Amino acid sequence: MITSNIDQINNRIKNICESCGREPEHVRLVAISKTHPEETIREAYDAGIRDFGENRVQELTSKMNHLPSDVIWHMVGTVQTNKIRDMVHRVDWVHSISKTKYLKELEKRAARLDRHIRVLIQVNISDEDQKSGCDPESLPDILEYAAGLKHVSVHGLMGMASFTDDRDLIRRQFRLLRELRDNHRGYESETVRLDELSMGMSGDYDIAIEEGATMIRLGSTVFGKREYD
Ligand SMILES: *Cc1c(COP(=O)(O)O)cnc(C)c1O
Repeated sequence: MITSNIDQINNRIKNICESCGREPEHVRLVAISKTHPEETIREAYDAGIRDFGENRVQELTSKMNHLPSDVIWHMVGTVQTNKIRDMVHRVDWVHSISKTKYLKELEKRAARLDRHIRVLIQVNISDEDQKSGCDPESLPDILEYAAGLKHVSVHGLMGMASFTDDRDLIRRQFRLLRELRDNHRGYESETVRLDELSMGMSGDYDIAIEEGATMIRLGSTVFGKREYD
């Protein structure tokens, strides 16, 4: 079941890329395994997936200690200062950084373990209060701060579109994220590169790829519907 889901997704990624003139290798599938048990994650692993994402630190830490060491772990949910410590020994990517104070804490914790962590800055592109992410106006400050880090590097932006059937609206929001990325290239430095765009979930990843996503975060299309969130 999971294996055929992944086959279908890979085919769809290929087709979408073909029709918009992109290379499928430039779209990384991050399987969002939240709420699913380790056995289920192993099925996806056996089908070739290596990038997995979780949205809760506790769930992430318990899973990442039990799965193969070549799994690349992505934290995609809201982070808090006091939780950063619990994941920093193993997490590879954090997509959901929205404030300099989290960069500071990550740097401190990663330095102690002599680890390197890659992050994306999450931007609020949907103007919905309940969605997290920084305001576009605060990007310059965050990127300037990131230029002084050693154990943390910024690789791009992450955003979530509105939960809506209005596909034009979703497209405008993804396009906004891409434009923000393009417009902040001037802030690139040794530790800040803006190559990645993490956008697109099960319901809208086709639009995200067309608008330039380099990472798509898919949960239900990979694993089936979640019983809870
Ligand atoms: C759950 C989640 C996803 C995946 O959602 P699906 O609609 O199941 O693909 C992607 N990104 C984040 C931040 C999530 O929390």
